[in-house]
Amino acid sequence: MDTADLDARVIIAVAFGLAPSHVVLHPDEPVDAGMLARLTPLLERRLSGTPVGRIVGEREFWGLAFTLSPETLEPRPDTETLVEQVLARLPDRNRPWRFADIGTGTGAIAVSLLHELPNAVAIATDLSEEALRTARGNARRHGVAERFFPIRCDFTAALGPEFDFLVSNPPYIPSGDVGRLAPEVRLHDPRLALDGGRDGMEAYRVIVSESVRILRPGGGVFFEIGYEQAAALKALLTSRGFADIAVYRDLGGRDRVVCATLAN
Ligand code: GLN
Repeated sequence: MDTADLDARVIIAVAFGLAPSHVVLHPDEPVDAGMLARLTPLLERRLSGTPVGRIVGEREFWGLAFTLSPETLEPRPDTETLVEQVLARLPDRNRPWRFADIGTGTGAIAVSLLHELPNAVAIATDLSEEALRTARGNARRHGVAERFFPIRCDFTAALGPEFDFLVSNPPYIPSGDVGRLAPEVRLHDPRLALDGGRDGMEAYRVIVSESVRILRPGGGVFFEIGYEQAAALKALLTSRGFADIAVYRDLGGRDRVVCATLAN
């Protein structure tokens, strides 16, 4: 996606301490030498391939700004489809939902859901202590920290039973393809958040088999997937007793989200 115009605006706003909208509304404001000196190093990083989010240290997701760290994946707009489908499938936003976000990274998914579900509680897991610190900071930043519980573990390993639903954007790139990702992804997103094993399905195998232990009967799973993984994940979910399996597309029209319910 060509985002040069937006990139430029965000970088200028950060360099000058302005709101991005100010840059749009006042395009003719003069720039003095001091301002230029602050702008140049940021522009140079962008020109050498560093994504804007990494330069400014945060990325907007679900209308909220999320602080990034080198150990967190940068949240993507496609993942908003996942948040949307969770909200679409829950019968009532006000219930005291208890959900787990597996591999939380910045916490973007869990924090956005907590923002929309006023009585929900999230347990968020990650292998990276640094990612969990970042996620906790993001939960605080958006006023949901008292309902956000980070736990350091491999996928679901430390979780007990009785979750209403699980949500996850796990690593799903086949190991052999990670080296072929665009440099902006390969050099700046953590490998731990990308590498899904030989066929990219390893995380789903672990989480789906564990979900039978940690979901309440009738509980749901919501996964982001690579766009060619819908059929394989549907087969895996069916083999583990899930029903009501649905696939949703992202804004680019590619399969991106798979939801299912654990049969009672
Ligand atoms: N959406 C990321 C990418 O393709 C991958 C994220 C993931 O593996 N969960 O760049």
